[in-house]
Amino acid sequence: MSITLEKWIEFFEELFPTIMEESWDNSGYQIMNPTKKVQQVMIAMDLTDRVLEEAIHLKADLIVTHHPFLFEGVKKIDLSTYKGKMFKKLIQNDMSCMALHTNYDATSKGMNTMIADRLGLLDCRPLIPGLTGTEYDGLGGVGQLENPLSIDAFLRQVKTSFNLENIAVNGIDNKHNPMIRCIAFCGGAGGDFVSVAKKAGADVYLTGDVTHHQTQVAYENNLIIVDTSHYGMEKVFLDHIDAIMKTKDPSLQIAIYAHNDFEMAMI
Ligand SMILES: [Zn+2]
Repeated sequence: MSITLEKWIEFFEELFPTIMEESWDNSGYQIMNPTKKVQQVMIAMDLTDRVLEEAIHLKADLIVTHHPFLFEGVKKIDLSTYKGKMFKKLIQNDMSCMALHTNYDATSKGMNTMIADRLGLLDCRPLIPGLTGTEYDGLGGVGQLENPLSIDAFLRQVKTSFNLENIAVNGIDNKHNPMIRCIAFCGGAGGDFVSVAKKAGADVYLTGDVTHHQTQVAYENNLIIVDTSHYGMEKVFLDHIDAIMKTKDPSLQIAIYAHNDFEMAMI
């Protein structure tokens, strides 16, 4: 039996309370038809025009993304703009959309645990503790590999665990780190936390969107830094939300948009 959108919002609120989100964030529903029963869902990292076209093709009732479609308050809608056109199509197709963003990142059943599990980390704690003092509450993570690995073996494991063809790394020739044990990570863009990772005792710091100057901080701190790309680690969201929703309602039809429309091609 299908569940209404209102009930899905309540369900996600229990798992990933929006009180846990960052102050600048806009997790939760973006467009909601509360009484509509949800039978077909599209899960994606971002709500792009391509995602929307596929969702319309599938007659989706709901699109669940990691990054919010809307970050800021909307006071005007111009239907000729990129987002304005999407608004029109979403409403015309009676389609709702919601985001599980930093509320998903910050809770124990969310992003950090999924990434730590893929890396096989033990005793994982938040890299940046949150303020609510609840069970996990925080961004990123620091944990230990069960058995130390050479940096080459660890990087191979990272590529395999996240199905990545390429990763960028600095400090691999650092002779002070012959074996890797303590791993810090932050899915998405965590380059500002390089010094925190070093203070936490990390041998390696994994994140995305790393800039020249953030790499410089890692270099000066004698820390190996790995850029998996923003999408590279965060895409664990897709399969995780798919599994959560199917457990709640096994009759649900779910499509996953497992593609990064913003990927920078190397040419
Ligand atoms: Zn992100």
